[in-house]
Amino acid sequence: EKAQIGVTGLAVMGRNLARNFARHGHTVALHNRSYGRTKDLVEQFGDEGKFIPSETAEQFVASLERPRRVVIMVKAGGPTDAVIDEFAPLLEKGDMLIDAGNAHYLDTRRREAALKEIGIHFVGMGVSGGEEGALHGPSIMPGGPKESYDALGPLLEDISAKAEGEPCCVHVGPDGAGHFVKMVHNGIEYADMQLIAEAYDLLRQVGGHSPAEIAEIFKGWNEGRLGSYLIEITAEVLKQVDAATGKPFVDIVLDQAEQKGTGRWTVQAALDLGVPVSGIAESVFARALSGGADVRKAAADAGLPGPSAGSGEHAGDLRADVEQALFASKIVAYAQGFQQIQAASKEYGWDIDPGAMAKIWRAGCIIRAKFLDFIKQAYDKQPELATLLVDDYFLDAVSGAQQAWRRVVATAASQGIPTPGFTSALAYYDGLRAKRLPAALIQGQRDFFGAHTYHRIDKPGSFHTLWATDDRKEVDA
Ligand code: NDP
Repeated sequence: EKAQIGVTGLAVMGRNLARNFARHGHTVALHNRSYGRTKDLVEQFGDEGKFIPSETAEQFVASLERPRRVVIMVKAGGPTDAVIDEFAPLLEKGDMLIDAGNAHYLDTRRREAALKEIGIHFVGMGVSGGEEGALHGPSIMPGGPKESYDALGPLLEDISAKAEGEPCCVHVGPDGAGHFVKMVHNGIEYADMQLIAEAYDLLRQVGGHSPAEIAEIFKGWNEGRLGSYLIEITAEVLKQVDAATGKPFVDIVLDQAEQKGTGRWTVQAALDLGVPVSGIAESVFARALSGGADVRKAAADAGLPGPSAGSGEHAGDLRADVEQALFASKIVAYAQGFQQIQAASKEYGWDIDPGAMAKIWRAGCIIRAKFLDFIKQAYDKQPELATLLVDDYFLDAVSGAQQAWRRVVATAASQGIPTPGFTSALAYYDGLRAKRLPAALIQGQRDFFGAHTYHRIDKPGSFHTLWATDDRKEVDA
């Protein structure tokens, strides 16, 4: 008997994906650079299903039915290229190499183009949900050639998470589309986490609540419109007490957030596409600021002053207002992320259905939330929606939230509590709604020093003012 699917790279993610396939009745070929991990998997979990372990790449390839489906789950970057170089010569036309690691979408585009030349389907596939997701059902975002999905999709849909009975897996679009969408998913995750952290900080510093009390507040919120995996786990983390000291867990952890890079990639890509993902960018920068121990120490040593004591009581119901600010800021962050997906889809001709992305994020992945149902509905109603903010549901939510949102940002500013997520989301919102932006002045400055020209509101064409002359005459440009 041959295997329907193979997994090479059997560290925690690959091992769990392989077990998930086997638990769904598929025979799974196994391979890892060093044989130890393959052996361990079969020894520990061999009774969960049918596995065909191989020591060499040749044996592994020979153990697969055609067209071969080879899932690569190794460290992203150089290791992925090394594995592709090893396997590509062993495969035949129509076989599939599926990179399930967190690759950069431009690497995926490059690899897909190169493998196409030799008739191999390369599928860059985003997988979200961490170790547990990989084992029990992740959200899966495969890109690559559409025709490969016919042979691959049913297996992936089998092992994916299910939301209301529907698989959290869909063909995202060609070449790097899957990895791009996974990257933006992670970027949105950064923004969501930052906003939740700011909400906690305000409840603690302004509201004077203890971590345990805030855990209860989050538990309550989890029952409402904010209901999501991230809110749920936040309550768990806040409830945690350190066994060694008896202190709240959040008080004994070093306050320097780390990152592996997908948030940064999202922002880099957004800069190239010209899409303002300020929520994601602020969250990446907030982590960088927190990690800048030397700069923070210098600031503390210099005694950078804050507001005088007692300045700015919160003028409202803090708990209710923070919930509103969190929800509104979250809408902005998601609206920006989805706009980035739409911009990339246009740029690369991917034809991504944004509603389908919201649909496959409803279960299995880290940003799973009730909220995503409304995003799906918004794009179902209007696939070409310019921004989520103008959809009825979100417009309504933001209209209801905006006064509270302003109060929260004002309180944070007057009490000197950093809320880059809430504050920049509100600035973005006000920027979108502004009838006139000071961008006109910037155009004037650009024309003054660089003759970059400008457009007028009252007639077509480009113009330049002769700033250096006495009469500062306007000329056609
Ligand atoms: P790691 O990223 O730690 O990678 C370890 C695996 O890569 C091992 O199987 C190792 O083989 C193999 N490997 C490393 N270098 C090479 C090489 N040069 N040639 C061949 N194989 C090599 O494993 P994870 O399971 O944590 O993650 C796998 C992928 O999944 C990564 O791309 C990660 O970004 C992505 N991912 C991870 C998630 C997570 O929650 N951890 C979530 C979603 C995606 P050996 O045993 O021989 O050293």
